[in-house]
Amino acid sequence: MTQTPPTFDTLKLAEPLLRALHRQGYETPTPIQEQAIPVIMDQKDVLGCAQTGTGKTAAFALPILHLLCPKHQQGKPAKQQHKLRSLILAPTRELAAQIHESFREYGHYTKLKSACVFGGVSQHPQVKALKQGIDILIATPGRLMDLYEQGHVNLRDIQILVLDEADRMLDMGFVKDIRRIITYMPRERQNLLFSATMPKPIAELADAILRNPVSIQVAPQRSSAAETVKQYVCLVENARKADLLCHLMHHISVSRAIVFTRTKIRADRLTKSLNRMNIEAQAIHADKSQHARTRALTLFKRGDLHVLVASDIAARGVDVDDISHVFNFDMPGDSETYVHRIGRTGRAGTEGTAITFVSEDDEKQLRAIERLVDKSIEEMYHPYDKPVFSKVPKSKKKRARHPLSKGRGKGRGKTSSEETVSDDNAKPSQRRRKKNVTKKPRGGKPGKSAKSENPFSNQGENPKKKPKNNKRRRPPRTDD
Ligand code: AMP
Repeated sequence: MTQTPPTFDTLKLAEPLLRALHRQGYETPTPIQEQAIPVIMDQKDVLGCAQTGTGKTAAFALPILHLLCPKHQQGKPAKQQHKLRSLILAPTRELAAQIHESFREYGHYTKLKSACVFGGVSQHPQVKALKQGIDILIATPGRLMDLYEQGHVNLRDIQILVLDEADRMLDMGFVKDIRRIITYMPRERQNLLFSATMPKPIAELADAILRNPVSIQVAPQRSSAAETVKQYVCLVENARKADLLCHLMHHISVSRAIVFTRTKIRADRLTKSLNRMNIEAQAIHADKSQHARTRALTLFKRGDLHVLVASDIAARGVDVDDISHVFNFDMPGDSETYVHRIGRTGRAGTEGTAITFVSEDDEKQLRAIERLVDKSIEEMYHPYDKPVFSKVPKSKKKRARHPLSKGRGKGRGKTSSEETVSDDNAKPSQRRRKKNVTKKPRGGKPGKSAKSENPFSNQGENPKKKPKNNKRRRPPRTDD
């Protein structure tokens, strides 16, 4: 017997919300929406563990708007009075702005008012919005504390509190602020906590805040990396990463990409380097003014900018459809961040690709990531290929050769992938590759021009000089 798919009508959302969803073109609720919306409408606490891009924002925004709609409030007010009744805390400015945008879209046909406050910009317009009266506030913890201490925010009427991306708030050191903010609210309230991962401190925070929560988990906790994302690693020396990125941008169909770097300086350098190589890119990170960040994001969203180079701050807030590729130019500091970064692509069921550059110091981190996503990430073949370490023990290696490896003498044992250059253009690419290989001196450099474009080549290591410990490292244990 076939089951009819659930609709938003069956969830009994208020009519203005259904109209807004129709306007958005949403037809059926996503699994997290299907599970969370009725529970939240029932005024229960929720502990949500969901992968990014699952429709999590609407899963809490819709029932909050439903509950705050005048006709669902006890005792109809004669005139719509705006009282701050719901607070949503988010770790970054970009995510806060994104959530605010969602509330505005879903609440378009309601009379509810919302505002968003975050640091890095003047507080005056935010104070003005608060003074005019709002029902819903989306905030980053730091700016909210500032405004509260100046007497601009009153949290005495909060009925629903949301902590979004709680694990990220933990990473950013916000947990103390959150605990303080909570003391400014009434004890009787509904609490919703969402987190992509559930490390122990978050489980403890949830324990302290939530009352008899309903647990909702739409992906197994160990592998919450979006399942629609194809994941690859490229083993490459640090000094060759910019050349590799440029090569990939030209050889695979990258329509819209985010490139993550470890530091703000590296993001700026890489952006300049890509621009010199005729790849238009802009950087967003914490040292950029809010204006510059918003501008870059707007261009990216509009499709006028194809490559955004970002530090991790952007990992949470970028909700742009159709990001075809996420490049981890630098390995993330921890495995959870990897999951968040790659979650920028493959959103709402679309396909995406995440390519992670792995250099000589990253072996341990790669293994930690593979443990979290619960699979061995496939290696991708490329001309700057360098056995910085052997990812797979020799005995386990697949010996299938990529078409482009023909003539190289010995294969690296990588499986071919549709992300590498396709067979259709194998010939010219082969020639290109051959040229690179024949030019390639012992250190593995593909040619002078590439080197001169690479600002990373002087960082920490001299690419001409072969590192002393350039031996293949011991293969990782298979029982990991
Ligand atoms: P989120 O996980 O909340 O960041 O949402 C990811 C993307 O999915 C956003 O672009 C939403 O606009 C979109 N989305 C959320 N719910 C639905 C739905 N029920 N149908 C179609 N798209 C949706």
